[in-house]
Amino acid sequence: MANAVNEALIRDVIEDVLGRLGGGTPVVTQSPLAKPAGDDASCSCKAKGAQSGREFGVFQTADEACDAAAGAFRQLREQGVEARRRVIEIVKGLCEDNAEEWGRIELEETKIGRLDHKIEKLQIIRGVPGVEWLHPEGRSGDHGITLEEFTPFGVVGAVTPSTHSIPTLAGNIVNIVAAGNAVVFNAHPAASRCAAMAVRKFNEAIHRATGIGNIACIIEQPTLESFGQMCANENVRLLCVTGGPGVVAAAMQTGKRAICAGPGNPPVLVDETADIDRAARCVVQGASYDNNLLCIGEKQVFVLDRVADAFMSAMERHAAVRLNGSQLDALTQAAFVFPEGQGAGCGHAATNKDFIGKDVPVLAQAAEVNAPAGTQLLFAETSADHLFVEEEQMMPMLPIIRVGSVEEGIEAARKSEHNYRHTAIIHSHDVNHMTAMGRALDTTLFVKNGPSMAGLGLGGEGYLSFSIATPTGEGVTNPRTFTRVRRCVMVDNLRIY
Ligand code: NAD
Repeated sequence: MANAVNEALIRDVIEDVLGRLGGGTPVVTQSPLAKPAGDDASCSCKAKGAQSGREFGVFQTADEACDAAAGAFRQLREQGVEARRRVIEIVKGLCEDNAEEWGRIELEETKIGRLDHKIEKLQIIRGVPGVEWLHPEGRSGDHGITLEEFTPFGVVGAVTPSTHSIPTLAGNIVNIVAAGNAVVFNAHPAASRCAAMAVRKFNEAIHRATGIGNIACIIEQPTLESFGQMCANENVRLLCVTGGPGVVAAAMQTGKRAICAGPGNPPVLVDETADIDRAARCVVQGASYDNNLLCIGEKQVFVLDRVADAFMSAMERHAAVRLNGSQLDALTQAAFVFPEGQGAGCGHAATNKDFIGKDVPVLAQAAEVNAPAGTQLLFAETSADHLFVEEEQMMPMLPIIRVGSVEEGIEAARKSEHNYRHTAIIHSHDVNHMTAMGRALDTTLFVKNGPSMAGLGLGGEGYLSFSIATPTGEGVTNPRTFTRVRRCVMVDNLRIY
């Protein structure tokens, strides 16, 4: 026991020192104090084929990672559904127990988002479904019985975003292992050290409990090249990518089946029948969450002219600060990068990375506005074609656009969503308006009278996933998303009546 404590302490100190030196995450080699694999009293079985020091999932190359994951998949298959349950329990437990520390580590590495929400995104991991989602479907008739089972692919190649690195990684592991697969990650380079740290911790605990090493593997220094190698590896039979348009296009060109959780630019419509105070509170809550990094987060609001003033006053009561025209112009100049010779306004510009996911005071300083402590969000009235409407800005600044009718609002909202078919939100008590908007926008998530995160079970009914497959249509991913359906038929027999 004393040895185990010393080993953990020593490893943590080494990681900490290397991290401070900026040397990146080392591939863990087992300490001389470590017991041989499978020698642990808590280990229920011997780790077949696991090499000492290579069970913890962090690899230099994509091929090493994919081969290790293929070995883990075979071990998992031998141990059955109970082992999947134990893996999931370990991943969820570690996320809950380490939420504060891991949230801080992720924020320190990525420097985007808010600590309170980084922590919360790990604390809510129990909302991600597990093996209970895989009930086989049976049919029985005059000609016998047929069973359809949800079976694994083998190794899944996954890509995670910088916006929620550890939560996406953990949620993907839960779903993918629940389905019986192993997984290899090519994380975002700007969030790869925290991802590797979590992978190592998961594998250490999983190996201790089950003897299975490398059920989740990661490429230590992810690059576009390692992404290509991972996709090309013959063990990888399915891809799951979470990110913007670039990675979605790249995954679709690999020739392998890809589950793509792509970008969004969610619009909100507020009509005259809405509970205005509730709408404002929900919009501020959703758009300020993790400094508006969520792909489902409210990115622009279309509000009926008749209630627009009341709505914006209510936003101010809910800790949002309004920008005037010149303050909006100043922030627009700072928050976007313009092509040579073009100024702020409409046109093609890219979001300035220095502003993505930053805190309100950073934006307030650029806008030259006084935002008191506790301010959650900035907002300003804009035109429907303003850059803050067109771009997925991912910062705590929300454009508000007045519209003359619900029809005009729905059409403008549809245009602003760019056919991503990701998420839309309405605040209304008129079911006709809700239906019209739902039909017109055709999004994967459509939230009514709540903040966007209610669509993922945070304050609304439903299960959680950090990967919402939008362009490829699987929706909010769950264990079944990562299965092959296989049919087993017994002819003229086994039917018991
Ligand atoms: P990003 O697109 O910059 O990166 C996402 C991942 O893709 C990273 O791991 C990155 O290294 C990789 N990548 C990027 N371009 C690639 C290419 N051409 N080939 C191979 N890999 C590539 O996104 P980000 O800034 O980390 O995350 C924000 C984006 O992700 C937003 O657009 C957001 O809407 C989207 N997102 C979607 C979901 C969802 O569930 N649909 C969830 C989270 C984030």
